[in-house]
Amino acid sequence: MDMEEFKKYAEKEGIKITDKTIADLELYLKELLEWNEKFNLTGITEPQDIWHKHFMDSLTVFKSIPEKAIKIIDIGTGAGLPGLVIQILNPRLHVTLMDATGKKVEFLKHMVKILELKNTIAIQNRAEILGHNPSYRESFDVALSRAVALLPTLLEYVLPFVKVGGIFIAQKKDGLEEIETSAEAIKTLGGNIKEKIKIDSEILLERQLILIEKIKGTPKEYPRAEGLAKKRPL
Ligand code: SAM
Repeated sequence: MDMEEFKKYAEKEGIKITDKTIADLELYLKELLEWNEKFNLTGITEPQDIWHKHFMDSLTVFKSIPEKAIKIIDIGTGAGLPGLVIQILNPRLHVTLMDATGKKVEFLKHMVKILELKNTIAIQNRAEILGHNPSYRESFDVALSRAVALLPTLLEYVLPFVKVGGIFIAQKKDGLEEIETSAEAIKTLGGNIKEKIKIDSEILLERQLILIEKIKGTPKEYPRAEGLAKKRPL
């Protein structure tokens, strides 16, 4: 069965999966495939690959979310990865799913409605703009982001959203080189590399998490105007 490896990984990691979690994820998968026929939401279209490369890969961040964390933001969430999976796993969290692409956010709003999620907000915006909005800036316990940009650029998108004392959990395929080129961005934006965690899985290869804690406020000039973090990374 497609979800067996997902369940096995969760069990090995001590993450509790209920029948409701599985039912919600099955509905998510079904809707994702249906919407994907009209809009390009994901390049992964085999149900088994969705269980592995999307759902299980999203699950890898779950244990790194501190127990006392409540407010989570997923930046460049696309079709809801990893943020929507994390919300389904723990409905107690307040998850903000943010992406620049309108169709993806439309899909997320649809999912929030049909999954009857009470604590989820889906918002269309760019990190460079929303990061200056006082209702969002430095107000999240945890930020997540997968497959959005190289680390020096990503840090400028993400760290402005994280509270001092909060963390950014970056999912990276091979992040070591990116860490080396990120020293300036980390220092400038108020971060500190706390930990690197290698994902232990025979299915998800070469995956790691980079945990960056926010140790001081981000200067107000960051993020810079749209496009600059990517064009001229710190
Ligand atoms: N996180 C999802 C995943 O892992 O499947 C989506 C990854 S997709 C390759 C990158 C996403 O980041 C796109 O949906 C894009 O719209 C979004 N994105 C890129 N730059 C962004 C920015 N500056 N602000 C907000 N979203 C951005």
